[in-house]
Amino acid sequence: MKVAICGGGIAGLSTAFYLSRLIPTCQIDLYERDSRLGGWLQSVNIPTATSPTGNVLFEQGPRTLRPSGLAGLATVDLLKQLKMEKSIKPILKDSSSAKNKYIYYPDRLNVVPSSGFQALKSVVQPAFRAVPYALLRDLFQKKKVGNEDESIGSFMERRFGKMFTHRLISSLINGIYAGNLYSLSMQSTMFGFLADIERKYRSVILGIVLASIRGEMLNEKQKLLKTSLLKNEHTNELFKSLRSSPMVSLEGGIESIISHLNADFSASSNVKVRFNQPVTRLALSASKDKIEVNNCQYDYSVFAMSSDSLSELLPCPAMNTPTTSVYVVNLFYQDASVLSYKGFGYLTPLHLPNNPNHILGVVFDSEQSNPEQGAKLTVMMGGHNYAKDPKSIPTTPEKAVSYATEAIKQSLGIYTSPDVANATLQRNCIPQYKVGHQHQLDNLQSWVDDNLRGRLHLTGSWYNGVSIGDCILNGYKTAQDIALKAQ
Ligand SMILES: Cc1cc2nc3c(=O)[nH]c(=O)nc-3n(C[C@H](O)[C@H](O)[C@H](O)COP(=O)(O)OP(=O)(O)OC[C@H]3O[C@@H](n4cnc5c(N)ncnc54)[C@H](O)[C@@H]3O)c2cc1C
Repeated sequence: MKVAICGGGIAGLSTAFYLSRLIPTCQIDLYERDSRLGGWLQSVNIPTATSPTGNVLFEQGPRTLRPSGLAGLATVDLLKQLKMEKSIKPILKDSSSAKNKYIYYPDRLNVVPSSGFQALKSVVQPAFRAVPYALLRDLFQKKKVGNEDESIGSFMERRFGKMFTHRLISSLINGIYAGNLYSLSMQSTMFGFLADIERKYRSVILGIVLASIRGEMLNEKQKLLKTSLLKNEHTNELFKSLRSSPMVSLEGGIESIISHLNADFSASSNVKVRFNQPVTRLALSASKDKIEVNNCQYDYSVFAMSSDSLSELLPCPAMNTPTTSVYVVNLFYQDASVLSYKGFGYLTPLHLPNNPNHILGVVFDSEQSNPEQGAKLTVMMGGHNYAKDPKSIPTTPEKAVSYATEAIKQSLGIYTSPDVANATLQRNCIPQYKVGHQHQLDNLQSWVDDNLRGRLHLTGSWYNGVSIGDCILNGYKTAQDIALKAQ
């Protein structure tokens, strides 16, 4: 059997990996437009005499993985199978990084409560003033009539009120999607399960408690996937050992997953990576029993590029999945004491006064791992704000660094200039699942099934979850689906 994978980001690579394990005789061609693999996974080492290691490791894209939930289980499985368990750097539950997360509002850091007792105390902080009202409102609020999708903003306002939604939920959405909660789909984003809970239990808070006690957090399909992943007892052990770590990072950077995958492919005879070979053509063969990628024929193909390129290659219904761009500014200070806060970092809400450069959040990277023995921060800017205010996009990396340092002067009191700075505009990097995303996906899927006779499989961060874990889980599912068809 021959399979073509289109796109060498984590979604395409994990599909290739699982497929090569499930069907060792399968010949897999992986097409990548660029001369490198990994897509948004970009860890860079910048030489500097100011660090005892001789360089500083910056993440220009993702930096942490969640080892919990179904997507977390798939991530742990991939790391285990790639023999990367020793590279996992757990961020333990009781570490300052896991315990102290902040919201910057309106002109100070507010600590996100990490326990019930802290939650009671937190209401004196401006960002959390709305919490008691939000909890009471949810207990008495009626449930929505009908099943149609709505925006995250509309759901959260209905259930918890406007102030809670603006100050807390919008900060979370800035951090995860760099998006606007009033246009993102409730059903298709990470909060989708809350809509199901409201439907069943009316109160979201009570529903979460009851659903977890009754083991209802996963549907039947998800339970099957979980069982299948846990069959590997080594994965099971590692997954259990990471229970007390809400997040992990990787020694050598997140991109090290990609080098391990690439090494695995080089060592195997059945995966061939075709660098610098963009996919420019996708079509069903004249005999209708093969799919053609560029000029080669395959039994199946997996599409792991962006949704825009899918509608450029095929006359299928276009997805309305725009993307946001993020300016990522990495800063390193030799003097670790410049950072006086302990914790993971802070996020900002939607309507933050005095935020002309659209700071979305700041991650305190050196709090999670600090081989450089200094202070390392990442400032993220822009997101959905760049679409409505394009003039605010810094025109040079130097300008981006100056906006970022200005912001941390104000929020963290850091007046010193960084010893090393690195700024990258990540254009169109985070897909925005708009209200109605699932309906569009269903239409697209039936077009693909009807017109390409099940020969094309869809995956990637535009499809069913934007995190690395989601992409790996979809890779696992896609490989299983193809293996099933091949039987
Ligand atoms: C700044 C930032 C921070 C993030 N932080 C986190 C985080 O902390 N944790 C987390 O879990 N997730 C995070 N994410 C999300 C996560 O990194 C991405 O969703 C994920 O990497 C997307 O992977 P992908 O394979 O779907 O897409 P991509 O990474 O975009 O890969 C697509 C690949 O297809 C290739 N390609 C495109 N066109 C063609 C063509 N015509 N022919 C052949 N190849 C082509 C591209 O070159 C690329 O290699 C972050 C993302 C960003 C941008």
